[in-house]
Amino acid sequence: MNFTFQGKYVITANLEAVTGLHIGGTTTGFEIGGVDNPVIRDPLTNRPYIPGSSLKGKLRSLLEWALGGENLRKPHPKHGIYGACWCGKCEACKLFGVASDDTATRQQAGPTRLTVRDAFLTKSSVDKLQQFLGEGITTELKTENFLDRVTSEANPRTMERVPAGAIFSVEMLMDKYEDSDANLLKSLFTALKLLEDSTLGGSGSRGSGKVRFCDARIAWRGKADFYQNGGQEKELVRTARLQWTGGVNAGEFAGHKFSGKVEGSFTTDKAAENASLWTVLLKPENFQKVFGEG
Ligand SMILES: [Zn+2]
Repeated sequence: MNFTFQGKYVITANLEAVTGLHIGGTTTGFEIGGVDNPVIRDPLTNRPYIPGSSLKGKLRSLLEWALGGENLRKPHPKHGIYGACWCGKCEACKLFGVASDDTATRQQAGPTRLTVRDAFLTKSSVDKLQQFLGEGITTELKTENFLDRVTSEANPRTMERVPAGAIFSVEMLMDKYEDSDANLLKSLFTALKLLEDSTLGGSGSRGSGKVRFCDARIAWRGKADFYQNGGQEKELVRTARLQWTGGVNAGEFAGHKFSGKVEGSFTTDKAAENASLWTVLLKPENFQKVFGEG
């Protein structure tokens, strides 16, 4: 296989918790008044964050099932575990990395294309949370009851969540090694769109973890231009749903405002006003226009 590094797509976006978000941390012991299920926290700021591994793992799982999930229904030939796809051929293996120690399979997939950074609360979100919850407080405690079916006795458990409305700053980088790699962005957008109709973190089937993306920006950093000759990155997409950022060629589609290099000529569809950003980018004519590949 012939892989040549061509550059990186840098995708930044705000991830909004539409419902409370619980990404579990560890309990370090029994504290008086402690919670059963705390969220994971950055030890320096003591604020909750979303580990890149949590986001990446969820996106991978959603994409693998969307691609057919053939390898998910079979145990791994070597480890016997029903885990991530190990085929080395599918988009999930190329994007997220191949779960195999077989050299030929790894060579077929090539380098793992996607990097997902840890996502931290935005400064304005921290300020807003503390304004409502109190100095130094950025989470809520939610009590859930387990009901004994015979005695009807309630057995309450407390769970810590990041409250609805909190906003995290997400950064993902997708490396391009083959011309066809641009098309892997479609798989990534599909996974991100599926995530908006799924949940992130714990207690998803009981209301937690609905998220949506907004204020996205996608830029291209070419090997020669950006990394070797000190040039500027090329902005491909900039959208704003929560605030208007302005821009020369501003256009509006599906509740997202486009500016910068993307000219405002997307077809307006009133019915799709609240459509996901990824729906807009996945439309073949829009994708072709922004990323240039088929
Ligand atoms: Zn695969």
